[in-house]
Formats: sequence, structure tokens, C-alpha cells
Amino acid sequence: MSKGNITGVQLVSPGESIRPVSIAVADDGTIASISNASLQGSIADGGGELYAFPGFIDIHTHGANGCDLANAADDTVRIIAEAKLKEGVTTFLPTTWTASVEELETMVRTAASYRENQEFARTPFLHIEGPYLNPQQAGAQDLAAMRLPDVAEIEKLHGICPIGLVSLAVELEGALEFIEALTAKGIVMSAAHSGAKMAEFRKARAAGLKHLTHFCNQMSRLHHREIGLVGAGLLDQDVSLEMICDKIHLCEDMIELVFQLHSIDRIMLITDSIAASHLSDGEYPQGEGIIIVKDGAARLPKGNLAGSTLQYHNGLKNVAEITGLPLNELSKTTGYNQARSLGLKDRGSIREGLLADITLLNKDFEVEMTIVGGEVKYRK
Ligand code: FE
Repeated sequence: MSKGNITGVQLVSPGESIRPVSIAVADDGTIASISNASLQGSIADGGGELYAFPGFIDIHTHGANGCDLANAADDTVRIIAEAKLKEGVTTFLPTTWTASVEELETMVRTAASYRENQEFARTPFLHIEGPYLNPQQAGAQDLAAMRLPDVAEIEKLHGICPIGLVSLAVELEGALEFIEALTAKGIVMSAAHSGAKMAEFRKARAAGLKHLTHFCNQMSRLHHREIGLVGAGLLDQDVSLEMICDKIHLCEDMIELVFQLHSIDRIMLITDSIAASHLSDGEYPQGEGIIIVKDGAARLPKGNLAGSTLQYHNGLKNVAEITGLPLNELSKTTGYNQARSLGLKDRGSIREGLLADITLLNKDFEVEMTIVGGEVKYRK
């Protein structure tokens, strides 16, 4: 049985030539077939023009459209999940902030309640960013709630809602044992808000570290006698790099440099978006404090960048314009690499048997339709 067909689209998927196709969706919401035949029974018609990307996977997002895990309420993740569809995101990891264990539990329960239905974008896992961070690299994270890595704390949260990714400062006391213990549970470990030296990075890698969180932001800088985490990320071709490509967190030259020097098989575009994304400039509550958004840049009153207002498709547009790389190559960085790293084998490409999670973009990178499980969940 068939749910219908996605017709008249240009296929953009890792390892595939960009070409006109029709995609048949099976009743269970997976891709039944991809062909160059013109099929009847269209659920979405690209008019021969629209690009069909594998649905975007944003592994780092705190909030959107006025809601944020920092101020978690019952429908917080549901509202974020609906907003994310407008960015072409079909899967995202709700991402926590540094907070007390009680506050973290509230954030995690909010995500767990959305996971029961997942009527908008999918949320297979949580991303726990903090509280095990280096106060010297706090950024917008709450200094008062920072503490040393605690496996029991993560196990408790993981019991409430599955955790896929944990970001921590790898130089903290107990970090290596923590990385080993959680890697053994299948949780991906990422270095963040960290002043680690290269030697500390190497130890963390040996313990199981796989990612660098928002590469270049709030991490030890590259110096010619101690290359820090920025140097580590450029040197180590097997470590995965999250990048916020809003041209604020990373300037255009840095984006170009990273794409020149690092394997594209290990680059993952993220938004690191906060409540103020999808809203206009202004002041927004954030935990106990406020965030001021001016010209799209979100900052604490003291000036630190505090997440982004980037929408996912605009990050891809920036990277395409800066690097000039073909879209099928870039589609690795918008879903395929994330899915592979997190063990989500059912998504990340447009291929027979995988979930029919597909984002239709026009030539200006605007999201025209977002399809989750073969259903059009957002239409411009
Ligand atoms: Fe961060």
C-alpha cells in the first residue's frame, strides 16, 4: 500500500547525483521507491524545481518561537518542534542548559512528554549541554550551577527521557571516567565550554570522545605552541564538528577554512537556537536573566553570545554561498553525518526503506514544505 507520492523534485542526497525524481511513500511512512517515472497521486509536487533534501537534523537547539528548555513548561518542546518544521528540521535534539538537578529534571520531563506523540518534528534523544563545564568558558551558561561530571545524575535523566549526546568540558576532574562510562551506554560524548589542551583532548578521544560542540565557540583557541581544541578539531579528521553557520558565531573566513581543512564527512550544521529564534529583535527572559537580541545576534547584557536565532535552512544557505560546494555534498552536513554519529540508521538520506522525512527547498533555500513520515507537516 502507498501513502502517496512526492513528485517533480530534484533529489539531493549524499552520494547521489542531483536529478529529477518521484518518491513513493509506503503506508508506514517510509520511502517505498525512488524513480524517474512521473507518478500519479501526489501528496507534494515540486513542480520540477524544488530540491528534496533528507530532512534536516539539528542536534543542538535550546528553543524557538518564544519557548526554551531554560524555562521549560508543559508544551515547550511541542512549540519548538512545530517551529523547527519551518526551518526544514524533521529531527532535533532538545538541548538543556546548565542548571540544578531539579531544573534539569523539569526540562527532561517536558521532552519526555512530547516524545509520547511527536506530532511535529521527531525528538529521538536529548542533548545535555552542561552542567559539567569549565567556568572559564561559560559563555551564556550559568556559572553557579556548574559542577563536576556525575554519571549517576545522567543515568537518572536518561531514565526519564533518552539522552543521545552529552557536552562537557573534558579537562574536569572525573571527565575521562565519565566519558568512558557513558560511551559504554551508547551516548555520544562531545567537548564543550572547555579550555582543554591538546594532550587533554587526546586523552578524551581515547576515552571515547566523538564530537566538538559548537566548534570554535567557547573552547581553547589555536596557539602555535598549544593548538587547543580549535587546533584539535582541524587536525583530527575523525572528530565530528558542530558548526553554527550564522556568520556571527563563525565569520565567513572561518567557515571556509573549516570546510577546506576538515573532512566533510565529519561536519554537522547546528543552530544552537534559543527562544528568540522565529521572533524579532528585543529582550527575552532566559532562566533567571534576560537575553538581548539585536540585528539577530543574541547576547547576555554583559555581551557574551547566548545561542543563536539562526534558522536551519539559512545556515545551509550561508555555507553553500561561502564554500560553493555542491548541494549533495552539503547534504552530509545537514542530516547524514548526524544520523550516522547518533546511530539513527533510519534517516539522513533519501533511500528506499528509510523514513520519508524530506525537506523541499526552492532555489533561494527557502523551505517550501517539510515532510515527516510521508506527511506534509509544514507548507509555506
Ligand atoms: Fe554552548
